[in-house]
Parts: sequence; structure tokens; C-alpha cells
Amino acid sequence: MKQETILQNKEGPQVVRVLLEFNLPLISYPDTGVWCYIIKTGDNTVSIFDAGPKFKSLLPFRRKYSGETNNTDKIINTLDDFFPGYKVDQILCSHYHYDHAENAPDLQNRLLELHGNLAPIRLHANDLENKKAFKFMKTHVEDLFKHAEYDKWHLGNSVEDNENLGNSGFVIVHTPGHTSGAISLVNNIEKIAITGWWIEEQSSPFVKVFQSTVVDEDTKNFAATIKKIKRDDYKYYFLHPQVDKY
Ligand SMILES: [Zn+2]
Repeated sequence: MKQETILQNKEGPQVVRVLLEFNLPLISYPDTGVWCYIIKTGDNTVSIFDAGPKFKSLLPFRRKYSGETNNTDKIINTLDDFFPGYKVDQILCSHYHYDHAENAPDLQNRLLELHGNLAPIRLHANDLENKKAFKFMKTHVEDLFKHAEYDKWHLGNSVEDNENLGNSGFVIVHTPGHTSGAISLVNNIEKIAITGWWIEEQSSPFVKVFQSTVVDEDTKNFAATIKKIKRDDYKYYFLHPQVDKY
């Protein structure tokens, strides 16, 4: 299991990440994947940022037959290793796409069994609206959950731009582009940003053409978002490992 502490002080780890399983057609885990970030938000609380996919296949019609990931186990084991006895106060999704949000109800239900508290699943309001996957298929984050055959989940109130993440020093920043409700986490004291899609598109012409043609919802706000989030002296942590080298 690939786990990393990305921020630590004398009180111990403050931000830890674990690589969740997410496979692409030509490369597979752990060369690909989705990072789940665990951020300490209080004396005995942490927030989760991204819960990963539930199923192994990329293709919707194959997914239920492709087998399940054990992404929830990876997150629970990482909590036990780095934050034993802590409770999860919320499960944030960077955006509504399945590779970041689909496993959230499974994680929520397991945490409820283990710790006895219901950690709400939270997204930006724009990603709680009706959506068009690949720009034409009507969808909604709760359709994703229904399709994954969960029988219960709890969505919390939508996240706000500039909302504080407990006393972690991180704020939630609305970074529309890839989806209209995409969010990033920024810590202006430590000069750290946990963010994603825009740097993939800057670094790969293929990704840029593919995503802007069939995925990205809010291309008119790209430049404004990049301006909002890009600071030359900040350290960036991304949502997928393929772009970590940039
Ligand atoms: Zn996405």
C-alpha cells in the first residue's frame, strides 16, 4: 500500500495520502490510481478528500462484473496507521466523477459501523446538480451511487468557496473547469495546494484535447481558475499519480 505523509509537525502527521486503485486501459494500478488525502482537522478528527472508485473497470457496462476495489480498506488501514482513534468528520469529493466519488457511500457506511458517526459526503453545489457525462449523457452524483447499488448514503450541505477545513490551515477553493463544481484544498501558511485537472491539461496535449473535447464542463473559466490557484512558490499535490512528476 502506497502511503505518504505530506505534512507533519511536532504533534505528528497533519496530512497523509494513500494511493487508491483506479485503472486505465493501458496502465494499471499502482502506475495509475487516485490519491485519497486525509487531513487532520482537530484534536481527534480528520477529513477525507476523495474516496476513489468502487469498481475496477473504467467502462460503465463492465464495471459490476470487473470486481470491486478494496479502496475502503486502504483508507481505513491508513486511518488506523496514522490517526488511530480519530473520527472522520466529512468525506469531501474534489468533483463528482466516479474515480473520486463513487466509493464514498461504501466508506461512509464502513466508518459508521466502525466509529459510530456519520461522516457526510460533501461536494460543491455545482456538482450536486444534474450533469451531462461526456457532454451528452444525463447523470447526477446520486445516479452514480444508485448505479453502484448502494442502498443508503448521506450527502451533507454543499461546500463553500473559502470554507475552512477545521483548524487544519487548509481552505476549500472552488476551482471550476474540469467540472463546474471542482474544488481544491489550499494551505496559505504552509504554501501547499492539493489540486488536479488543470495541470494535467497543461502538461499533456493529449489530455488537453481529450478532456476539453469530451469531459470538461466549464472551459471558459479555465484561465480564471488557473490564475486563482497557481502560485509559483507553492508545492502542489495532485489527484492522480501520473502527474506527480510535473
Ligand atoms: Zn474528473
